[in-house]
Amino acid sequence: MNNLTFDNRFINHLPADSETENYCRSVENAAYSFVNAAKTSNPTLIAVTPLFAKQLGFSEHDIKDAEFTRVMTGNQLLPGMKSYAQCYGGHQFGQWAGQLGDGRAINLGELTTAGLGHQTLQLKGAGKTPYSRRADGMAVLRSSIREFLCSEAMFHLGIPTTRALSLCLSGEEVVRDKMYDGNAAIEPCAVVCRVSSSFLRFGSFQLPASRGEEVLLIKLVKHSIKSDFAHLLSGSSEFSKEIYLAWFSEISQKTCAMIVHWMRVGFVHGVMNTDNMSILGETIDYGPYGWVDDFDLNWTPNTTDAHEKRYRFGGQAEIGQWNLFQLANAIFPLIGEAEPLQAVMSDFALNYQNSWCTMMASKLGFKDYQGQTDLYLFQSLEKLLSTVETDMTIFYRLLATLPNDLDTDSHQQWLTLLAPCFYNAHDLEQSYLQDFTSWFKRYLARLNYDGLTQRQRAQAMNQVNPKFVLRNYLAQQAIELAEQGDYSEIHQLQLILQSPYKEQPEFQDYAKKRPDWARNKAGCSMLSCSS
Ligand code: AMP
Ligand code: MG
Repeated sequence: MNNLTFDNRFINHLPADSETENYCRSVENAAYSFVNAAKTSNPTLIAVTPLFAKQLGFSEHDIKDAEFTRVMTGNQLLPGMKSYAQCYGGHQFGQWAGQLGDGRAINLGELTTAGLGHQTLQLKGAGKTPYSRRADGMAVLRSSIREFLCSEAMFHLGIPTTRALSLCLSGEEVVRDKMYDGNAAIEPCAVVCRVSSSFLRFGSFQLPASRGEEVLLIKLVKHSIKSDFAHLLSGSSEFSKEIYLAWFSEISQKTCAMIVHWMRVGFVHGVMNTDNMSILGETIDYGPYGWVDDFDLNWTPNTTDAHEKRYRFGGQAEIGQWNLFQLANAIFPLIGEAEPLQAVMSDFALNYQNSWCTMMASKLGFKDYQGQTDLYLFQSLEKLLSTVETDMTIFYRLLATLPNDLDTDSHQQWLTLLAPCFYNAHDLEQSYLQDFTSWFKRYLARLNYDGLTQRQRAQAMNQVNPKFVLRNYLAQQAIELAEQGDYSEIHQLQLILQSPYKEQPEFQDYAKKRPDWARNKAGCSMLSCSS
C-alpha cells in the first residue's frame, strides 16, 4: 500500500477542534476533532469489494495482507493518514437535535485516486469520539452487513451512494437491545470502511448556522464548492452570492434525483434526518432502511417511526424538500434574501414531479412521458398495486413480458402472466380483476401509440426495473449465517447484486417474493435504530 497517496483537504482547509483528548463535549467553531480509532482485539476481514478496491489503488496483494485488515479496523494508519471525526448537527424526526457529529465514524484521510478524484476513507464502528454522547462508538455485525451490502447494491443499481470498501469483524462484543423490547443480547462488533468524496451532510452547515458561527459556515460552504462543485467556480477563485445559490440549487437537484431513484427501485431510507442527508445527494447512513416487498407507499421499516411514519416510502420526496428547507435556512446568512432560496425550493417540487413522471414512463416501457393521460395511468396503477399485496419488483419485471396483443376482454391472460407477483393470487376479487383489466386496456393502447415491439420494450424496461434487490429477508438470512461464522451468503449476495438488471437464471431463488415466515419477522419487515 506504499503507492497510496493522501491529500487531506478537509483537515488542511478547515478549522480543527483545539482539544485533542477523546472525551464527549460540545465542539464549537471547528469542523472536526482529531481522534484515534480504538484498537481492537481480533481484526478479521470478512468481505471486500475487489473492483472498487482496485479503483482506489489497492492491489490484490494489498487486500490479502494483514496490514489491510489492520488499517480497515482502525488498528493502524498508513503514511499520510490522519484520523478525525466530523462535527455536525441535525434535525432528527423533525426536531432540532443540536450537535451530533461522527459518534462512531472515524475518517482516515482523503485518498487521491487515478479515476475517482479524492476519496475519503471512513471507518464506521471504530470506537468512541468526542461526538459519541452516551453511546459506545461501536457498530454490530448485523447493521454493518446491511450497510456493506446495501451501499454496493445501490451503486450497481445506478443510484448515487457512499461506497463500501471492506467489512471486518473487530473481535469486540457489545450488548444491544435489538428491538428495544427488553431482550438485550451480546453481539459481535464490526467495522465497515465506507468511502465518498465528501461526508458533509446538511447538518454540517446547520450546526454552525444554529450557533451563529458565520465564519465557520462560510468556510464550510467554500470548502464544499472548491472540493466537489468546482465547476461552479468556472476557473475563477471568486465566490459570490450567485455561486452559493448555484451550489444550493445543485444540491437540491441531486437530492431530487436520488429520491426519484429510491422510488424507482422501492427503497425506503428509514431515517431521513438532516444529519443523514449527503451534500452530494448520495444515499448515506444505511440504518433501518428497507425495500418494499409488497408495494405500499405508507410502509416504513423503522419501528421508531412506526406511529408517525414520517419517513414512509411515499413521503420521501416531501421530506427531502423539508430537509432542503432546513439547509436553505442554514445558508441564509450567505444569501441575505429569502426569494432566491424559495425559488430553488419550488423548483424542487416541479423537478421532482417531472423526474418522477419520466421515471414512471420508463418503468412502464414508454418512449417518453406524454403528459396528463400518462400521469393518470401511473396514479391508477399505484392504486391497483396498493389494493392487494403485490410485489413491486416482480410486477415490473413481469410487465415487460406482456405481449403487445394481450387479450384485454378478460383477466385470464394477464393474470396467468402476472400471478407470481401477487402474495394471494387466488383471492383476488372480481371488481379488482375488472379494474385491472380495464387498466391493461388503456396501457396496451398507450403501448401501441409508441409502436415498440415487445422485445424492444422489454429490453428498455429491464434496464430500469431491477430483477434483484436486497430484499430485507435476504439480508437477514445472510446476517443469521454470519452470526454463526458462515460468511458465504454475504459473498453470494455481493455477487448477485452486482448485476441487478440481468436475468441470472441460476439465481432465481433470490428474485422470489418474500416468504411467509419473513412477513412479520424482526430484521425482515421491521428494524429498529439499534445498530
Ligand atoms: P444515526 O441514527 O446512525 O444517523 O446516528 C445519529 C447520531 O448518533 C450520529 O451522531 C451518530 O454518530 C450517533 N451514534 C449512533 N450510534 C452510535 C454509537 N453506537 N456510538 C456512538 N455514537 C453513535
Ligand atoms: Mg447518521
